[in-house]
This record gives sequence, C-alpha cells and structure tokens, in this order.
Amino acid sequence: VTCTGTRVGFPRTLFFYSYSAFWRSFFEAAGVDLVESPVTTQSILDAGVREAVSEACIPIKVYHGHVRELAPNVDYLFVPRYVSMDRVTVFCPKFLGLPELVKSSMAGLPPLLSPRIDTRKRFTLLLACLELGRELGVSVAKTLRAHRKASASQRRYEREQRFRDMIPLPAKRDGAPLRIAVLGYPYEVYDGFLNLDVLPRLASTGVDVITIEMFSHEALAKEDAEFDKGIFWHYSDLVVKAGFRCFHKKDVDGVIHITAFGCGPDAVVDKLLELEGADCDVPFMPLLIDEYSGEAGLVTRLEAFIDMVQRRKEVRAG
Ligand code: SF4
Repeated sequence: VTCTGTRVGFPRTLFFYSYSAFWRSFFEAAGVDLVESPVTTQSILDAGVREAVSEACIPIKVYHGHVRELAPNVDYLFVPRYVSMDRVTVFCPKFLGLPELVKSSMAGLPPLLSPRIDTRKRFTLLLACLELGRELGVSVAKTLRAHRKASASQRRYEREQRFRDMIPLPAKRDGAPLRIAVLGYPYEVYDGFLNLDVLPRLASTGVDVITIEMFSHEALAKEDAEFDKGIFWHYSDLVVKAGFRCFHKKDVDGVIHITAFGCGPDAVVDKLLELEGADCDVPFMPLLIDEYSGEAGLVTRLEAFIDMVQRRKEVRAG
C-alpha cells in the first residue's frame, strides 16, 4: 500500500470499540496513515473535562480528551456522525451531534472528517468511504477496494468475538464459582481506566465474567418480544436486551450495570434493569462511573456484591 503521508486521527472511544476493524482496514488500504489515540489516561480525562461542555456525560468528555490528545499530531480528525447501524435503532443524540459538539467547544483543531453513517439509507458505508476518499485525494478505484476490504475485516472481527481483542479476560471457565454479567456501553465496559479495571478485578477473584459482546445477535433479538416498543437508542437497546436475557435465563449469579454520570438514556436503562432483576430474583448492582470515581469505593462495592451473591448461592444450594 502506498501511503499518501496524510495522518488521520481516530479517538479511541465511543464507536471505536465497535467499528475500529472497519476503519483501520479502510484507511490502511486507502494508503492513509491512521493515528489512534492511546488508551484513556488521567491527562486525557482532565483535558476532556476542561474542554467539553460541563453538562456532557463522562464518555463525551473523555472523547474530547482523546481529540485534544490527537490534534497536534494529525492532519485531519475522524469524527464520523453515526446515526444508525441496524436500520431500527439510532445512536444517542450526543453521537448524532458529535462533530458539532467537538467543533463548538474546542479551538485549534485540524479539519474534521465527518461522514454520516445511517444504514436506513442504502449504501451508506460505501458513500461515506467515497466521501472520505474524495476529501483525502484517494482515487475512486482505490477507495472501492478499501471499502471492500474494510467490510470483510469488520465481518471477520464480529465473527471472532471482538471482545477478546479488548479485554484481558481469561477464557470462559466452566468451573468458576460465580458467573457475573457486566453490562454497559462498550466505551464504558472496555475502558479500563474509566471503570477502574472492573473486568480484570472480577476475573482475578475467580469470577467468570460475561459481557454483551459474548451474546449472539440472535440471542439478544429474542428479547425483543418483551417490549411493545424497543429501546430507541442503539447501545441502550443492547444493554436492556442482554440484561433481560440474563434475568430470564438465570444462567448468571448476578448482573452489574456500568453506567455513566450524566447519561440521559441510562436513567431509563438502569431502572428497567433494576425492576426486571427484582422481578426475576437475580442480584443486580449499578456501578456509576464519573470523573471522581475512586478505587477504594469501587473495590468495596464490588467485594460486597460478590460476597452477597456468593452467600446467596450457598444458602440456595443448601
Ligand atoms: S448513551 Fe449516554 S453515555 Fe453514551 S454518549 Fe449518550 S449520553 Fe453519553
């Protein structure tokens, strides 16, 4: 692949976790140098808190921090407008307005590349790629080849359990004493800095941890029947379906919901999970993350939850 020398920055958060396979492959095949921000750090979080509007949820603040981290080192910033990826649900309004949010609150940025991606419109990803190719001076033939390659990479990634790329979890252990589902948006669940390493912490206590990405689309789709209307927002819909699936099948000992401070959709999601968990008699605990989350508080809460779930299991086993 001949490189054009153009450097495009890709913030490592929000939709990065779901669609990075596609974009890595696309930019590489188009000969464009894709620069990914590092994993979230305290200075990225601090920059985001400084730069984003104060009422933004914590993941949006973190996004601003990643943008700031990349800005001095790239020619363009890739800030796509993700609208819908399954033709039914749409992303939360903050995703929809992301390019404007970033532009209005941050100065001194390189130009943004912001194609609109909405699978309710035909060929949306192909059109997004062609738009990017035009802006970056890549030929149409090369862009078409890059799009084909990217689609194949994304399919492969989804087939091969994408979560294994992101989190330091041991393979599923059948003999583990407890099985806990950790549910939430991928940019909360897989950002170890933001959630203070909940997944490896649980795994190190011998718990078999499962996350949404381990469920098949078919398994989650079955939960649709529970609602007259599904949840409108893309990631929220997945969280509720995964939670309901766990509660109804009762094949986990407990459910932890990682929820972000300042998230509007989570006010609904968390309540639905809490009520259904109580109805189905499956232990449930919300874990709120914010910019002040402290390790001591988190460890205490996790330990108390695990102890309670463990005792309950022992009592039931007689
Ligand atoms: S779903 Fe919630 S956490 Fe995610 S971007 Fe929207 S408001 Fe923020």
